[in-house]
Amino acid sequence: MSIAQNLLEIKSSLPDNVTLVAVSKTKPVADLMEAYNAGQRIFGENKIQEMTEKWQQMPKDIEWHMIGHVQSNKVKYMVPYVKLIHGVDSLKLLKEINRQAVRWRKNIHCLLQIHIAEEETKFGLDEKELEELLNSDEFKNFQNIIIVGLMGMATFTDNQDQIKREFEHLKTIFDKYQQPTTNNRQLTTLSMGMSGDYQLAIDCGSTMVRIGSSIFGNR
Ligand SMILES: *Cc1c(COP(=O)(O)O)cnc(C)c1O
Repeated sequence: MSIAQNLLEIKSSLPDNVTLVAVSKTKPVADLMEAYNAGQRIFGENKIQEMTEKWQQMPKDIEWHMIGHVQSNKVKYMVPYVKLIHGVDSLKLLKEINRQAVRWRKNIHCLLQIHIAEEETKFGLDEKELEELLNSDEFKNFQNIIIVGLMGMATFTDNQDQIKREFEHLKTIFDKYQQPTTNNRQLTTLSMGMSGDYQLAIDCGSTMVRIGSSIFGNR
C-alpha cells in the first residue's frame, strides 16, 4: 500500500478525539509530501537538525512536533517554529525552552515525558520527579511555557498485559494532575501509542498517537 493509503486507513480508524502525529524521522521530504498531499498536517521528528531542514523545505501550514530526546543547546534552533515538544523530562531543559521562548516572544507548548517502561534506557520522569517539578517555584515562574500534557512510551515487548498496565499507569497520573493550578499547566493531551500499540493506547485513554512505520514503512 502507498503512504497515502496507509495514512487514510489509520486516520479513519481513529476516534475523533485522538490526534495523529505522523512520525517521519529518517524519511525523505518526498515521502512527507505524499502524506501532506493526502491531508496530513502534523509531523513528528526526533532530531532537531533534521526537523529544521524539513521545516525549511516544506509548506508552512505544517505543525512540527519534536518527539525525541532534546539537548538543551539545540533548543534555540526549533523554538521559532516548533508547535509541541513531547519529550521534556527535566527542569533544566524547561528552563532553556522558556529562555528561548522569551527571546522569541512566544509561548511554547510542552509535554512532560513520564517513565512508564521497565527498561532503564527510556527517558522520562517518575511520579515523584513530576510532582517536584510541577510544584517548584522555578517552574511556576516560567512565563512562556505551557505544559499541555504528558507523554510516555511502553516497554518494547509482545506482552500486551504489560503494555496495558504501563499505559493505564500513565493515564492514572494524567488524571491526577488534571486540575490546573498555575497558568502554565493545563493537561489536556495524553501522548501515548506507536505503530505497534496505538489501539491499546487509545483504549487506555490516549488522545495523541505517534505513528511512523505503519504509515511510511520500516526505517
Ligand atoms: C520513532 C518513534 C515513534 C514511531 O514509532 P513507529 O513504531 O515507527 O510507529 C513514536 N514515538 C517516538 C518517541 C519515536 O521515537
